[in-house]
Amino acid sequence: MNVILFGPPGAGKGTQAQLLAKRYGIVHLSTGDMLRQAVASGSALGQTVQKIMAAGTLVPDDIMIELIAERIDAPDCANGFVLDGFPRTTPQAEALDAMLAEKGMSLDHVIWIEIDDAILVDRISGRFNCAECGAGFHDSFHRPKVEGVCDGCGAREFSRRKDDNAETVKARLEAYHEQTAPLLPYYRSKSIVETVDGSTQISDVAGRIETILEGV
Ligand code: AMP
Repeated sequence: MNVILFGPPGAGKGTQAQLLAKRYGIVHLSTGDMLRQAVASGSALGQTVQKIMAAGTLVPDDIMIELIAERIDAPDCANGFVLDGFPRTTPQAEALDAMLAEKGMSLDHVIWIEIDDAILVDRISGRFNCAECGAGFHDSFHRPKVEGVCDGCGAREFSRRKDDNAETVKARLEAYHEQTAPLLPYYRSKSIVETVDGSTQISDVAGRIETILEGV
């Protein structure tokens, strides 16, 4: 099963993608995570994208397309994947279609997580991740069951994204509305888009997505 999760920053794509990957045994492909790893490692790619990410604007299409093409080629993706944060522009969507067609693969579902901008700033400013396993948490909506301990792996180190601040969020929302939201008609024309209300509880959004994926 090959799925794209779409939506603005803070809609819950990463959280839902983690749940889907676990439930269906598919690979979670987050281009944001890949880029953050590149930045942390200090690689040439990381040095190129660091400032762009800090500004909240989009990394050039050619870089992103090459990154995802390499990743989708890996054997673990043959079982299926859930894309989180890619594609974000029309050229990226067209390139994804071409690379999947070349491999005899296709997209099964595009899940559009719809949510009002007004909710997003609060959501984004409170979120943090386990530094060990990447599990996502939130200061108000999803604290670890035991304070300071990751529910997933028991680690005690957490990190917050540098671009989760009010100013950068504004730029990220602008990029979403200008460059990513126009992909909706692109995928609608292929009749594979389902819309989910992203303002509800994590478990409700997950339930709704499962219903769509299982076709019930
Ligand atoms: P995310 O974790 O998906 O919110 O991505 C964090 C940042 O990485 C974005 O604000 C962009 O600067 C960059 N980025 C991630 N995915 C893409 C993409 N598909 N195209 C362009 N830039 C991206």
